[in-house]
Amino acid sequence: MRSEYQTSTVIRVGDTVAILSGKDAGKRGTVERLVNPGRVVVTGVNISKKHQKPRQKMSSGSQTPTVDKGGILEIASPLDLAKVALVCTKCDRPVRIKMAVAADGKKSRQCSRCAATIAHKEVSK
Ligand SMILES: [Zn+2]
Repeated sequence: MRSEYQTSTVIRVGDTVAILSGKDAGKRGTVERLVNPGRVVVTGVNISKKHQKPRQKMSSGSQTPTVDKGGILEIASPLDLAKVALVCTKCDRPVRIKMAVAADGKKSRQCSRCAATIAHKEVSK
């Protein structure tokens, strides 16, 4: 059975993260999506170039083929979660996050340096 990807990490789509290691170390980007298991796609980071050949396609209902131009596509590849860290909106640096549990049981992410609450960004699907 395939279960839904339940992330145990504090990192969510829309977060600003800093890259800690690898060729893109030091870069920052926005989390585009979470990939199972434990990987994230960060916009503009870990770009791999894909060479696409030009090709012709016949679209239905049309007599003229549409031409796919081809060229070099830049695709963001998934990064290991261990290689990224959430950037605190207040300290403006990658920080460790601790979970704070409020009296009503709601969890929130807290910067371990300045104790600021780092809110999730609302992402419309
Ligand atoms: Zn902070």
